[in-house]
Amino acid sequence: MADTAVITSVITAASTNQYEGEPMTTGVAPGVTRPRIAAEEPMLIGDSWTCGSGGRIAVLDPATEELLTTVGLAGPAEVDAAVAAAMAAHRDGRWRGRTPEWRRDVLARLADLAESRAEELAVLETLDNGKPIERARGDVALGIAAIRHCAGAPARLTGAVQPAGTDRHVYTSREPVGPAALVLPWNFPFMIAAWKVSAALAAGCPVVVKPAEQTPLTALRLAALCLDAGVPAGVVDVLTGGGSTGAALVAHPGIAKVSFTGSTEVGRSVMAAAAGRVTPVTLELGGKSPNIVFADADLDRVLTTLPRTVFAHSGQMCTAGSRLLVHRSVRDEVLERLVPLVDALPVGNGLTGGITVGPLVSAVQRDRVASYLDLGRAEGATVLAGGGVRGGPGFFVEPTVLTGLGADARCVREEIFGPVLTVLEFDTDDEAVALANDSEYGLAAGIWTSDLARAHRTAAALEAGTVWVNTYNEFHPAVPFGGVKQSGIGRDLGDAAVESFTELKSVTVAL
Ligand code: NAP
Ligand code: MG
Repeated sequence: MADTAVITSVITAASTNQYEGEPMTTGVAPGVTRPRIAAEEPMLIGDSWTCGSGGRIAVLDPATEELLTTVGLAGPAEVDAAVAAAMAAHRDGRWRGRTPEWRRDVLARLADLAESRAEELAVLETLDNGKPIERARGDVALGIAAIRHCAGAPARLTGAVQPAGTDRHVYTSREPVGPAALVLPWNFPFMIAAWKVSAALAAGCPVVVKPAEQTPLTALRLAALCLDAGVPAGVVDVLTGGGSTGAALVAHPGIAKVSFTGSTEVGRSVMAAAAGRVTPVTLELGGKSPNIVFADADLDRVLTTLPRTVFAHSGQMCTAGSRLLVHRSVRDEVLERLVPLVDALPVGNGLTGGITVGPLVSAVQRDRVASYLDLGRAEGATVLAGGGVRGGPGFFVEPTVLTGLGADARCVREEIFGPVLTVLEFDTDDEAVALANDSEYGLAAGIWTSDLARAHRTAAALEAGTVWVNTYNEFHPAVPFGGVKQSGIGRDLGDAAVESFTELKSVTVAL
């Protein structure tokens, strides 16, 4: 991991301010390093790095279609071994049995180590996932912030004493639930790995991590850093593999908790598998989030941030503000100003620097998004910007704005997970809320208004786990994140996430 080669074309020194709409400043790097990637990247089971006995999965750079490496396809034997390693770690208390301060220090060391490797992790993430390097830096920073936040959590996991008269002493305590399966998506591979691993470790749980098959590399690096930081072997295990690996893991009888981020469809099958043993689940699923622009909004601010809310990460964000709901009186001005901005968004290899729209993660995802562009046209959409797929190499789709669709169009209702914005108009506040809530999803929502009362009224009326007012996609490690309706159950981040890896025990003592 320490060996590096220089990528001269990479730009460093960019702002990590990806969540506000400020223009990113970039500068040419004197010598940005390319992380060393082994020809075969092993997975971590207990104290050994192993290639496994199953097949190999190709890991591609989606911007060039270059083969980066291969990872093992973990089968039942590897799943059993990894869960056994986590169960052994749980049983002998090598992690949960240590003092909160000891675990705090290890997690703080993990954050320091990750910070010392932040640029390497960001470059690796861009190579593996395709996202612009500035965004990868932001993701890595947010992952590290979560680890740091969780470092303080072990000592905060207190119970309560229940007043129960003079002849009883009654108290509650929080105990780690046991080995946790952490199943990850490909869109924020490091960040979500860091969120879930640090929350579970803070709670005292060993983890078996299953990264997405398209993007396994940074989760493997995180596991290596955990060992370097002093997390005992067996406490963090990583299984590379496919959907069958994830399915075997979440159904394994040794798993006491499942935390999954991914599609609603797979989330349902994870929940069904967990139901067999009444295993608690946290599910962070899909979204089709509304971004509501009222007539009194500061349009300069809207127009600065709006392109990023849906085109950043090529739209491959569960929180993408992919449904623009705009008041009829400002609709034309918003679109007249938005379209040239979208046309001018830099599309390309995220390692170049200054790119806003990188490739989609895979050919499958590009084709899926392309099929939605065809569907949108068939549904009668007007294509105001983009609308096409770029020739290879690389899995590029143009940032696209679709108007003229009704609220029932599939492109308006279904999660496209690509750089595609649909636009609907409204006349009244009630209509805006009704349109926003007319979705099976409820992950996030944006409100743009200069009327404080309207902002709070609308925030209260929206069916969403997260609401942003006059901003979008801001995350903080102390602020819980997750969805309602079919966007999921439970929360990542905040003490809510740590507590989700614990059970409350109630103890009554007759004095
Ligand atoms: P996905 O296809 O649902 O896969 C997610 C993970 O589950 C992958 O690691 C996948 O492995 C694994 N998996 C597949 N089948 C499984 C099964 N039957 N049992 C257990 N695990 C299984 O999702 P994705 O395509 O990676 O990510 C895109 C989706 O995630 C979008 O819908 C997006 O909205 C959602 N997302 C939500 C959030 C949030 O916080 N709410 C955040 C990010 C993404 P393989 O990769 O090997 O198939
Ligand atoms: Mg990849």
